Amino acid sequence: MLDKSEKIFVAGHRGMVGSALIRRLESEGFSNLLVRDRSKLDLRDESAVAKFFAEEKPAVVILAAAKVGGIKANNDFPVEFLLENLRIQNNVIRSAYEHGARKLLFLGSSCIYPKLAPQPIPETALLSGPLEPTNEAYAIAKIAGIKLCQAYARQHGANFISVMPTNLYGPNDNFDLETSHVLAALLRKAHEAKGRKDSELIVWGSGKPRREFLHVDDLASACVLLLEQYDSPEIINVGCGEDISIRELAELICDVIGFDGELTWDASKPDGPPRKLLDVTKLLDLGWKPSIPLQDGIAQTYEWFLTNYAR
Ligand code: GDP
Repeated sequence: MLDKSEKIFVAGHRGMVGSALIRRLESEGFSNLLVRDRSKLDLRDESAVAKFFAEEKPAVVILAAAKVGGIKANNDFPVEFLLENLRIQNNVIRSAYEHGARKLLFLGSSCIYPKLAPQPIPETALLSGPLEPTNEAYAIAKIAGIKLCQAYARQHGANFISVMPTNLYGPNDNFDLETSHVLAALLRKAHEAKGRKDSELIVWGSGKPRREFLHVDDLASACVLLLEQYDSPEIINVGCGEDISIRELAELICDVIGFDGELTWDASKPDGPPRKLLDVTKLLDLGWKPSIPLQDGIAQTYEWFLTNYAR
């Protein structure tokens, strides 16, 4: 179990995942949360990270900092996705061990699994086949992070766990159309199309790929449970157990927003893997379940977008 006054460092607290973790930990009464803005601590800087850990010595570390992006950003900038993620995770994981963190939670991604993994994807599918080319660089970095956590566990007995979330959405998502993931992108596109009274909404790819979407608050509740109850170096999936096609997602978003134009498909954009549904049996067996249905989550995220993002 976690002590409510233990010092917990949340790396990446301004991001969608890190900010959800802060909300969740605060609501559960954790009172000693440690954060650092990017302007004060660059996690890519090895000596700065080592100095920070030497001074602060957090007992628990949640590594939610990463360079992330949707299919286009991943496809266009493999160098940055590989290098920046390797740097951040190598620095944080190593310093956490060297300065005595008793537990670390590393956040991976469902894109670590092979492009044609069995569906739903069990944790055992890791490294069983070739990766999806559009996000291979990011996936390789995340796989290296998992292996580093497992290496510290095997060689030094560290309690470093790795959690693989499915596609996430929610408050503080990235709504930039070039770099965002599909749900945030379509939310913004449908909102703007409605405002302009457009007759069509352009959606990338064929609409056929299937994806599983989890509200980030559900991920945060799963992470707190895993921090308290899961002590294995074996990776564990976090998802809601259901997927929908991109076409169905686009229709659902248009319904929530009240845009009634046509969907037009842009076949020049990549589809990515045909399906990415996680097998979440291991997590469900620990007693966790998701609490935010997709339609409610989209409506809540749209409210957040209107208040915080839309001008
Ligand atoms: P992925 O899950 O890693 O493939 O990442 P994304 O969330 O970026 O994309 C998921 C699927 O949604 C892909 O098949 C995209 O082609 C499709 N998609 C449709 N419209 C959009 C859009 O406007 N932005 C993004 N990022 N994806 C879109």
